[in-house]
Amino acid sequence: MTRPYNFSAGPAAIPEEVLQQAAAEMLDWQGSGMGVMEMSHRGKEFISIYEAAEADLRSLLAVPANFKILFMQGGGLAENAIVPLNLSQGGAVDFVVTGSWSQKSFKEAGKYASNRLAASGEASNFTSVPDAASWKLGSDAAYVHLCSNETIHGVEFQQLPDLKALGCNAPLVIDFSSHVASRPVDWSRVGLAFGGAQKNIGPAGLTIVIVREDLLGRALPVCPTAFDYKTVADNQSMFNTPPTWGIYMAGLTFQWLQRQTEGSLTGVAAMEARNIAKAELLYGYIDASQLYVNKVDKAYRSRMNVPFLLRDESRNDAFLAGAKARGLLQLKGHKSVGGMRASIYNAMPLAGVQALVDYMREFERTSA
Ligand SMILES: *Cc1c(COP(=O)(O)O)cnc(C)c1O
Repeated sequence: MTRPYNFSAGPAAIPEEVLQQAAAEMLDWQGSGMGVMEMSHRGKEFISIYEAAEADLRSLLAVPANFKILFMQGGGLAENAIVPLNLSQGGAVDFVVTGSWSQKSFKEAGKYASNRLAASGEASNFTSVPDAASWKLGSDAAYVHLCSNETIHGVEFQQLPDLKALGCNAPLVIDFSSHVASRPVDWSRVGLAFGGAQKNIGPAGLTIVIVREDLLGRALPVCPTAFDYKTVADNQSMFNTPPTWGIYMAGLTFQWLQRQTEGSLTGVAAMEARNIAKAELLYGYIDASQLYVNKVDKAYRSRMNVPFLLRDESRNDAFLAGAKARGLLQLKGHKSVGGMRASIYNAMPLAGVQALVDYMREFERTSA
């Protein structure tokens, strides 16, 4: 039985090997007589699952020792409040808005801090990012926030800005929900990274926060204790019950990532090489075609989320129906952008992107 290719933006496809292993262990995890969902989070079985997941993520993303890895709940949107509660100290925070997600973060932060718009891509309909040299960064900013991959608009930072070189000493906060583990992270430029797991890591319900130690212990008094990063860090993410199933599934995904190779590359480096090849295949076809168009500035095109429009929009429904019939699922675009969106996260093999391109070519030929 071969499964269809699932292009959902999130919750998204999970590697089949991970799903198979989880299914095999569902009723009895490694002879313990218990499924993972039934275990105490303080028992030795679950602690071993948690410790392996944390260590594997640290090694996959090359997280330096002076950063804490926190397993939380609430998703990316809750972090839009939790970050300013922890880091703003009620002062000013600067936002680089490059699409829907950073826009939401900007708005939410206004409840807890003085949110300032340092730059916005809105004038380009979020198809590009203003040059970093033009960003208005305040010397008093508690932090600078950006979304390193805008899932809806398909805009990705190919490298993170060096705030110090821009004359700004504030820590950089990134929302990396939709491209975590698809490419390496330059931790020398980051103070805090957060992301929901449901795009590239596992099931919804787990949120990953990776935070530099010197940023802990600054939470506003009103910050819920369970969301105070220092409390979470001091308790190894077990101040309250963590999302145990999500951590287990993420751990299986991390093991899967470690097994991936491309030539001499392994882990995230292998994934990055594969993701570049997938993105080049799809964008290359779109750019060469007469029917499809992607409007994002080539310098900022996302390797993970590829929105595209049909020049003849009356063919949208026929395109989606034909795709579904060929086992190419969940290609409908986000309502705010329209058209189609192919999310090609780590779990999408090159063969899946090739199948999509083959179908797009066939559809273009038959609709000419
Ligand atoms: C999906 C997504 C979110 C929202 O996450 P929730 O888990 O729904 O709160 C936030 N930021 C980005 C970049 C996303 O892709």
